[in-house]
Amino acid sequence: MDTNAPVLIGADTLEALIGKIFQASGCDAAEAGRIAHHLLGANLAGHDSHGVVRVPRYVEWQQAGYVVAGQQAEVVTDGGAFAVLDGHYGFGQTVAPQATALGIERAQQHGTAIIALRNAGHIGRVGAYSEQALAAGLISIHFVNVAGSVLVAPFGGTERRFSTAPFSVGVPTSPPVVLDFATSHVAEGKVLVASNGGKPLPADALIEPDGTLSGDPHTLYGPYEQVGPRSPANGLGAIRAFGEHKGSGLAFMCEILAGAFTGGGCSGPVNARGRIANGMLSIFISPRHFGTEAGFRQTAEDYVAWVKSCRPSKPGGEVLAPGEPEARLRAERLAKGVPLQPDTWASIVQCARRLGVRVPN
Ligand code: NAD
Repeated sequence: MDTNAPVLIGADTLEALIGKIFQASGCDAAEAGRIAHHLLGANLAGHDSHGVVRVPRYVEWQQAGYVVAGQQAEVVTDGGAFAVLDGHYGFGQTVAPQATALGIERAQQHGTAIIALRNAGHIGRVGAYSEQALAAGLISIHFVNVAGSVLVAPFGGTERRFSTAPFSVGVPTSPPVVLDFATSHVAEGKVLVASNGGKPLPADALIEPDGTLSGDPHTLYGPYEQVGPRSPANGLGAIRAFGEHKGSGLAFMCEILAGAFTGGGCSGPVNARGRIANGMLSIFISPRHFGTEAGFRQTAEDYVAWVKSCRPSKPGGEVLAPGEPEARLRAERLAKGVPLQPDTWASIVQCARRLGVRVPN
């Protein structure tokens, strides 16, 4: 029997359990439900790195006071079509949807809006905020950084200087096009998933201090127990920026726009702040206001179809639009259940029991 075979858990069962864990850790029912829904949504989209694997770490952060339940994103500058918001280290799953809702409201009023959010707890899968804007028919662009987290070596270097600084764009075609990725070669959560026996990393995803390329999670986490938390503070190596000098340049811009410009701060020395926080600079565009909506949609949809009609590079292969893999996996996992690595599931069970939450058989 394969003891490392994934455990398959129904989406509803898993979401309910995670919700109970966050209620037991001190969130009210609405916030606990939002965190559970968002984390499960990442698993459904296939981004297990930003899904329920994060639960023990979120609970640890909450207990340490690094992330705070019951916060509201506060508007600190209001320019009508632009605003600066402070998340006050509230759960990202609370303050980022609030910031996005404000951006949607203002773009519906003015045609476009720019929202700078700082000091948000971990906001998880950034594509979720593009999808929130898409539900209102808006284009959105999100530059994100993680202040207080340095994990990524810039092009040409071996030392950590960037966070995994993700970037997302959503376009309201039918189906929508949703680009959403970390500017690191792999998201940190993917190293976490690999360290739990999940999908192995590409052999060149990480870099050792001496410049040797590595796919071994120990490069980032140092020594760790099979079940239990891992900390990147214990490792000596770094994740590499994606796309050589170009991806490294995009990471640079995410740090400057989402970190320096929002006021939340750039990726800095490890533990300088004692906690991490996401910054997000979001641009919302309403095609209806620009008067180009009908033509734009038709042209974009025709273009997507033409790109997808490209001859595949491998026999039986297929050209996909950004967002397509997530949509397909969501349908499959909603029907069949969410696969979790046994170590991930064991960590969640351990966390639930510590908080006195009953785990369904
Ligand atoms: P990834 O490397 O899996 O890339 C995902 C993107 O590539 C998606 O837009 C997807 O639709 C597209 N894609 C994937 N396969 C494709 C194919 N065959 N053809 C065409 N397009 C394809 O993602 P990642 O870099 O590992 O990021 C994972 C998640 O981590 C993201 O949701 C990101 O927002 C999140 N993240 C969050 C933070 C944070 O601080 N909150 C930090 C880093 C990453």
